[in-house]
Amino acid sequence: MTTEDNIVSKIVSLSKRRGIIFQNSEIYGGIQGFFDYGPIGSLMKKNWKDLWIRDNVTRRQDVVFIDGSIITHPRVWEASGHVKNFGDELVECKKCHKRFRPDLIDNAKKCPECDGEFTAPKKFNILFHTEIGVIEGEKLPAYLRGEACQTIYLDFKNIVDNCRVKIPFGIAQIGKAFRNEITPKNFLYRTREFEQWDIQYFVHPNEMEKWYEYWKEQRMVWYQKLFNNKENLRFRQHEANELVFYAKKAFDIEYQTPWGWAEMEGIHWRSDYDLTQHSKFSGQDLDYRDPVTNEKYTPWITETSGGVDRSFFFLLLDSYTEEKLENGNIRTVLKINPQVSAYKMAIFPIAANKPEIVSKSLDLYQKLSLKYSVDFDDSSNIGKKYRRQDEIGTPWCAVVDYQTLEDNTVSIRDRDTMEQIRINIEEIDNWLSSKLNS
Ligand code: ATP
Repeated sequence: MTTEDNIVSKIVSLSKRRGIIFQNSEIYGGIQGFFDYGPIGSLMKKNWKDLWIRDNVTRRQDVVFIDGSIITHPRVWEASGHVKNFGDELVECKKCHKRFRPDLIDNAKKCPECDGEFTAPKKFNILFHTEIGVIEGEKLPAYLRGEACQTIYLDFKNIVDNCRVKIPFGIAQIGKAFRNEITPKNFLYRTREFEQWDIQYFVHPNEMEKWYEYWKEQRMVWYQKLFNNKENLRFRQHEANELVFYAKKAFDIEYQTPWGWAEMEGIHWRSDYDLTQHSKFSGQDLDYRDPVTNEKYTPWITETSGGVDRSFFFLLLDSYTEEKLENGNIRTVLKINPQVSAYKMAIFPIAANKPEIVSKSLDLYQKLSLKYSVDFDDSSNIGKKYRRQDEIGTPWCAVVDYQTLEDNTVSIRDRDTMEQIRINIEEIDNWLSSKLNS
């Protein structure tokens, strides 16, 4: 068993050891709030996003997908309210000039570092600034987007005019967002550069309630399907004093982390706020005309907005397992959904110095790799090979051995049960495909 506190540090160390996630710029001492996905993690994250796209976009006829730009017209962030209101209140120590969020230091009256006096709380904006252009005096100040979803509102008119959509419909996007977070912490939980997956679902105002409830349910069911420990997922309804003025209600999907329940995704009632704001600031008519009734109105929006990296981290927390084996050793296994695993199968020749066995293994690898992401490992120690695949969450390992040369079967070991079965090489493709789709 692992104690709750050190699970995060175990995952950080496993992530580094196995090429899942690295601290960014580590050779320069690292930089807080930025991470890189390594050879294994980048495949896993891609699969995580592909599943979201499959279930929320391509399997539906009412949701389209976009991939918007990170830098937009600076007015966008004035219209959205981010220039004015995006940030936290901080107090600054008058002596050492360190800044703190009062709630994170228990509203202490003196600086915890040097006992100095604090200034009055002041709001700090967390948008990242940049500039467009190179000629001094002509540079246009701009921002890296503080949330991905704004691009969806910007493309709304183009999509309605050109993409054969009819209300109710959704626009989905996965993309980077940047926040100059004051206190990046807990690995991927709070970073300064991260990805969000958003759906903005546009409806007739009379149907808002129905679609809000629909998406709230859908998104929870989706996470429940993919996490092992469903009891670690819950809704948290926002209190009346947390609601923005245009929201009738708001719910977060939360995950129970070692440091308590934490937000993973928000389901937001946005009414006509965003389209109205952008209409006002851009001077464009963003209303929708119903092609059947001819009614013209500003659509209302249900937004589902989640963190790709944050939910991926929670998925790692959910799947990290340590098992005590009969010989007393500890087996570390990432019991992650096979659809998210970097490799669906690893193929090992039982002996690296038997050309017939190696060539049969390579044939199998080449055949399967046309359709699946698979790994090949001909290093010598079978125990080490299993350990590596367990730790990166590869669901099945196939061993080509002496018997394979006689009857064309291989042994397949299951990551979670460690049980082995024998299967004819010709049947592996179908077997794997039915396993992955079950
Ligand atoms: P929090 O209260 O945790 O800062 P938020 O309410 O500001 O989050 P939203 O603006 O609703 O978050 O963003 C939607 C989602 O984006 C969040 O549910 C979270 O999963 C993710 N997210 C937000 N900020 C970060 C961050 N700094 N690092 C990683 N993921 C983030």
